[in-house]
Amino acid sequence: MTHQQVSPDGRRVVVVGGGHAGGTLVGLLRQAGFAGEIVLFGQETDLPYHRPPLSKKFIDGDLEHWLREPEFYQEQDISVRLGESVESVDPAARRVHTSGAQALDYDVLVLATGAEPRWLPTPGSDLAGVLTLRTLADARVLRKAVISGSRIAIIGGGYVGLEVAAVARANGVEVTVIEREERVLARVASTQLSEIMQAYHRERGTTIITGAQVVSLSGEDGRVRDVLLGDGTRVPCDIALVGIGAVPRDELAAAAGLVVDQGILVDDQAHTSDPAIFAIGDVTRRPLPGIDGLLRLESIPSAVEQAKQAAAAIVGAAPPHAEVPWFWSDQFDLKLKIAGVVSAPPGTVLRGDPASGRFALFHHTDGRVTAVESANAAGDFMAGKKLIAGGERVDPVRLADPAVPLRNAVIK
Ligand SMILES: Cc1cc2nc3c(=O)[nH]c(=O)nc-3n(C[C@H](O)[C@H](O)[C@H](O)COP(=O)(O)OP(=O)(O)OC[C@H]3O[C@@H](n4cnc5c(N)ncnc54)[C@H](O)[C@@H]3O)c2cc1C
Repeated sequence: MTHQQVSPDGRRVVVVGGGHAGGTLVGLLRQAGFAGEIVLFGQETDLPYHRPPLSKKFIDGDLEHWLREPEFYQEQDISVRLGESVESVDPAARRVHTSGAQALDYDVLVLATGAEPRWLPTPGSDLAGVLTLRTLADARVLRKAVISGSRIAIIGGGYVGLEVAAVARANGVEVTVIEREERVLARVASTQLSEIMQAYHRERGTTIITGAQVVSLSGEDGRVRDVLLGDGTRVPCDIALVGIGAVPRDELAAAAGLVVDQGILVDDQAHTSDPAIFAIGDVTRRPLPGIDGLLRLESIPSAVEQAKQAAAAIVGAAPPHAEVPWFWSDQFDLKLKIAGVVSAPPGTVLRGDPASGRFALFHHTDGRVTAVESANAAGDFMAGKKLIAGGERVDPVRLADPAVPLRNAVIK
């Protein structure tokens, strides 16, 4: 059945994915004065919510942080179809087909399908107690499973894995982090930050094994009991959390003939290769000012920035200014904030003392700051972000001295 009702201003925007990007976009469209019809399809059965608390509050906090109050959607005349996924897109007809055997025409389509946990292709990964963490439903399962006195093996030392490790450890759980690379956070942080975080977790009783290859998981009565490593080490556990990254959910876009390469390729206004289709959030790879090539960022600020880009393009408003990419992570009492793209720049300046729990690492090329990684140092983070955006040169010696205000480290 094709639903052909047309709204008074003539356009219908269909958004696929009720995550942070899609949920933000629908609100922004109304805020920008879009008076046409908005339909949001969400495969999950929960209204759009914040994912960051899932790894930070899964034991003792509130998990359900809605992006908008449930009444919002009705008040704003946004049709939200939860538990219904879009199964295919017909770009020529400008029509989507859904799991509810519905077809719906669009004038503008926005793909905000996010990412899903990368699965571990080893024997035993289908045992009960082997979990992943992406959705509210996953967090509810993890909350029940991880109880004081239990043992959790976390496969993958990325941000999500380390956040879960910190919460579990602080609640009396025996934690082992198993990392394939030679350091935790290898893909996303500098070697300096990896070392600091590794030490921080170890000092608090977490076992971290790096350079480790998981060869299988073994169980008893269908439940996971051990993670077996390549060197013969057995890590006993009651729960194994697989946190080895996320893969973009770009299959819908690929099947529709959009240009896709490890994510949907978009420009700096969230356009895909089809003029009637936008893509935003974790599913995209996009350009960033001053960075070669396209990057897939997995962060809330990036999802929000692209939602702003798409909303502006849809209503015909001026494009928003490019933002410096950033994100945050909470581990134990450390509030980490990271801005810029951490690669391997020639210079790094440490400001503050990691032992005090308050520090910032400024990465720079010839005195121009390209990234800042900070812990409990919101002022340094904000200043670092401005330095990245402004491109001024700094004096590394003055930058390293916490007694020198950061603005005085800029070379005039
Ligand atoms: C545990 C955890 C902690 C995090 N912590 C932080 C943090 O501290 N700071 C930070 O900046 N970022 C954090 N992130 C990352 C952040 O949550 C993501 O970058 C953000 O959620 C991306 O939003 P999105 O809308 O692109 O994708 P998602 O939030 O993944 O939403 C995509 C939605 O689309 C739905 N969908 C997919 N395909 C279809 C379809 N065909 N039809 C209908 N619906 C579909 C999915 O079910 C999903 O609900 C965290 C992520 C996780 C998992």
